[in-house]
Amino acid sequence: MTRIVAIGEAMVELAPAGDAELYRAGFAGDTLNTAWYLRQLMPATDAIAYFTAIGKDDISARLLAFIRAAGLETGQIAQRDDSTVGLYMISLNNGERSFSYWRGQSAARRMLEDDTALRAALQGADLAYLSGITLAILPQDARGRLFDVLRDFRQAGGKVAFDPNLRPRLWPDPKTMTDTVMQAAGLSDIALPSYEDEAGWFHDTTPAATAQRYREAGAAVVVVKNGPKQVIAVTPNRSFAVKPSQVANVVDTTAAGDSFNAGFLASYLQHGDLETASIAGADLATAVIQQFGALVTLDQFTQHRISGRPL
Ligand code: ADP
Repeated sequence: MTRIVAIGEAMVELAPAGDAELYRAGFAGDTLNTAWYLRQLMPATDAIAYFTAIGKDDISARLLAFIRAAGLETGQIAQRDDSTVGLYMISLNNGERSFSYWRGQSAARRMLEDDTALRAALQGADLAYLSGITLAILPQDARGRLFDVLRDFRQAGGKVAFDPNLRPRLWPDPKTMTDTVMQAAGLSDIALPSYEDEAGWFHDTTPAATAQRYREAGAAVVVVKNGPKQVIAVTPNRSFAVKPSQVANVVDTTAAGDSFNAGFLASYLQHGDLETASIAGADLATAVIQQFGALVTLDQFTQHRISGRPL
């Protein structure tokens, strides 16, 4: 049995629902999106847990119910008296989406005031999954605690997968972002960066240079996504390029990278083949960007095709 723990922030999402002033509430967040897809792709006997902190109010209870209904384990999610979940709102202007966030005081920012719950969540786990957003929302001392927990987890045989997901607006300054992301890369076994973000902030001139930088930082496996262009996967002894299928009708690219990561990890954990896993990641992202919203329910044939999970 495989156990995966995704660590991060889940938020309330308000999305336009037709009329100009009508919005529909849902839940999303990069690491939650990946956990949600992993749950659909991994065998039912495997466990996928989500680790975060929420409040004790009604909307927090609804988020918790949503995470549970998705089949994710929630046993170590702390419910705090002093804060609630973050919120973001999607605005549509001539078909272009823009985002506004209210997350500065969110409970998730306090999920590592003490590391007991995370250590308990990772007990016996095979893989911890986190992103640059997980790091960005934490105060510096909490980030240090997270790194210590990950170090101990790896020493005990656990693996760490990391998507740098660079979001400069969440960081005090670009240097703190790039330094912290590379520190996390040094604690990662699998790094899943996106070239466009990386080129902008690390000045990489090619996706291969991005892969090389993460390899040199310590990640054994690096998979560089690049929108519709080829994905590059690099390990100590092999490298592959995989071209995502062309999508004529891109409806909504939200969660393209998050779903890619889930498709890749589900396949890689089950079959251990880098090339097949890269194709699986791209295959899932292709399905997701052809529908609205971050969370697309996959039929069992798609689940089977992407991850090899039995029908
Ligand atoms: P992020 O969402 O993190 O910015 P990318 O834009 O690089 O990540 O996209 C992640 C993956 O989604 C790509 O590797 C690819 O498989 C798929 N993808 C994204 N945009 C397209 C597109 N226009 N056509 C086909 N596949 C795409």
